[in-house]
Amino acid sequence: MTTIAIDIGGSNTRIGLFPALDAADYMPVAKFPTQQDYHEELRRVAEALQSIDNAASSGVGVSVAARIAKNGRSVVAAPNLPGYVDQPFARDLSARLHVPARLAHDTVCGLLAEKTFGSLHDSERCAYLTVSTGTGAAIQLAKGAITLTSSIEIGHQILDGNQRECLCGQVGCLETYTGGRQITLREGRAPNEIADAAFWDIFCDKLAQGLVNLAMLTRIDAVAASGAIVLNRPQLLEQLQQKINQLDLWSPLALLSARLGEDAPLVGAALLTETPEDTILH
Ligand SMILES: [Zn+2]
Repeated sequence: MTTIAIDIGGSNTRIGLFPALDAADYMPVAKFPTQQDYHEELRRVAEALQSIDNAASSGVGVSVAARIAKNGRSVVAAPNLPGYVDQPFARDLSARLHVPARLAHDTVCGLLAEKTFGSLHDSERCAYLTVSTGTGAAIQLAKGAITLTSSIEIGHQILDGNQRECLCGQVGCLETYTGGRQITLREGRAPNEIADAAFWDIFCDKLAQGLVNLAMLTRIDAVAASGAIVLNRPQLLEQLQQKINQLDLWSPLALLSARLGEDAPLVGAALLTETPEDTILH
């Protein structure tokens, strides 16, 4: 049986077909700009999969750049895709493609991929961090046969003394320093156009605080980092690790590069189809 995987990002949608789930290898099926119109997106997905024999597929897993309802069946918050909110997404996909459909936040999918095939393979308490338009994360805590994976709002934790207003409405969120959209609004240019060392020093200070807070609250010991800002700035992780080491004197927190790169959400979407629903806190 094959598995259909769909990665619905804020900018692009990618579809892949996985012949098996014991490897991260897949056949690319389609890539197109993510449609703001929900029904048009469904139509484009179904069209791309027209020639695929769905009867030979065990299901479809979908990674979405959005917060998912607790029951895993719909989108409840999506700053980039407002037209998707509260639509019966899993049911509509299942009806169009004639296979069971599962949804998860892209950070949950990224984590599943890095845990199974990537840099988090050996960690029982770990996180996946994406530093891009926003700052998102998921954590996984495991012991023996019990595993819980949860999407968390790392970017909207409040940092002491931060008076900046966040796009979410709170004052003091980490993301006012680390979110690509907020940086662009505040600085008047995109993060990849900023070379100023002082800017990146503060960026790393704030993100290190956020990650050490996360480690203290959850006792995770490894973080796989990805997202455009990390991928565009190779020296960032080393600088960030140094800041973490200065702050976190109790137990080491290892910052790792996400091995699957931009494929992580797609690979994780495929893995989602065989991940028990009750092990995921959306
Ligand atoms: Zn916020």
